[in-house]
Amino acid sequence: MSSDDRPGPRFRFAPSPTGIFHVGGARSALHNWALAHRHGGTFVLRIEDTDAARNEATWIDGIVDALAWIGISADDERFEGPFMQSAGAAAHGEAADRLFASGAAYYCDLSPEQVRERAEANGTTGYDGHSRDRGLGPGPGRVLRFRVPEGSTVVSDAVRGEVVFDNATIEDFVLVRGDGSPVFVLANVVDDIGSRITDVVRGEEHLPNTPKQQMLWEALGHSPPRWAHVPVLVNAERKKLSKRRDKVALEQYRDDGILADAMVNYLMTLGWTMPGSEEAGSEIYSFDEMLERFSLDHVTSSPAFFDIDKLLAFNGEHIRRLSADELVAACDPWLPADWDRDRFAAIAPHVQQRLTTLADAPGWVDFLFLDDPEIDDQAWSKTMSTEYARGVLADSISAYEAAEWRHEVLKETMEREVMAAHGLKLGKAQAPVRVAVTGRTVGPPLFEALEVMGRDEALRRMRAALLLLDDRDDRTGRADEVGGGSGD
Ligand code: GLU
Repeated sequence: MSSDDRPGPRFRFAPSPTGIFHVGGARSALHNWALAHRHGGTFVLRIEDTDAARNEATWIDGIVDALAWIGISADDERFEGPFMQSAGAAAHGEAADRLFASGAAYYCDLSPEQVRERAEANGTTGYDGHSRDRGLGPGPGRVLRFRVPEGSTVVSDAVRGEVVFDNATIEDFVLVRGDGSPVFVLANVVDDIGSRITDVVRGEEHLPNTPKQQMLWEALGHSPPRWAHVPVLVNAERKKLSKRRDKVALEQYRDDGILADAMVNYLMTLGWTMPGSEEAGSEIYSFDEMLERFSLDHVTSSPAFFDIDKLLAFNGEHIRRLSADELVAACDPWLPADWDRDRFAAIAPHVQQRLTTLADAPGWVDFLFLDDPEIDDQAWSKTMSTEYARGVLADSISAYEAAEWRHEVLKETMEREVMAAHGLKLGKAQAPVRVAVTGRTVGPPLFEALEVMGRDEALRRMRAALLLLDDRDDRTGRADEVGGGSGD
């Protein structure tokens, strides 16, 4: 079925290419996608490129890739576009001509400085309607302005209810600049009409444009779409998220090891409560579950705090939901090229519980891929200075020389032959072995790590640690003698 014949509402996402893909934009895209899905409608992607002439192919690809990462697929039959706003120049010009011809718009020859001077002299802000009745036609440097009618404009918004704007507060705004280029409000409305958009769902920052756009829809002979303005995203200081202050680029989160499912889940909860989530005591959902249930009814109008710690917590939860194969595939881009993937696959499930981001994965398991562990000095001195460290290591080595190399057996062997002999709890008994083979006091479960490492390598590391312990003890002993220490 061609998209023109497809019934149902038509939503759109209309990003301005700014170089980064803002998380707020990603949320708007998800809202529109979810609604198009839920109502059997269409999702139109329009790139609003009229203000920036840049390398098109690169940033269109960037936007389509970013959308694909969060599950909005250009291959889906509901997806239409991407359309370039610049391709609609002729339609923008025609609409401007029509508005002029009908008297809904008029030309004005004042320069921006003259507009400012007049406003100062009048004690007002903005344009005073100077050319409303001067009957000017088009000409170089002349701007086309919309003749704002008297009265008020009532925007019916699915999130905010009826928002009333007094038209006296809206100046006769510019539609076409002196150089003939259309301004955002005109191009945006003409394109929405051209794509037969029925629903405009976007960020709250566009609410002030909406009465102007609604007047334009009407002046061009169309009923306005259903509007919905979703709440602004703010940072911990309750300030609007900004490119300068905050981490707002979707790509950055992807590169930092956030899973797409977690990002989508988190973005969807910003300003929206999934029905049933409070009873369930969990906000963790798959995209499909949310697509089925998203509606504007449960979107709030108050600002939504973009809480990175909460996003990280969501990410941990989504990482834990991955199957073993999915986990390995998801971590792959963060692994050094020369790491043995089979070895990683063997250890990955044992660190799954501990990961906050995918980027954390290598740091948990790198000891398995190095020739020798990198010994952390603090971990060494804390663990190896105990009076039992040497005995535990030596006994573990002899017990492990013959043990069957499975983690259950390695654990039982340590319990039977080391813990009991030294009168230690398991945590203490395994600490010297852990530092010997991993170099650290924290890491994946020890016996599983030993199993993955293999007997030869594990024993070699344990023996090397024992030698190092002797060597350090010798040196400490000599130092004591030279220093005239009392010894014992
Ligand atoms: N191009 C506008 C923006 O990126 C979006 C306009 C709209 O959604 O109507 O903010």
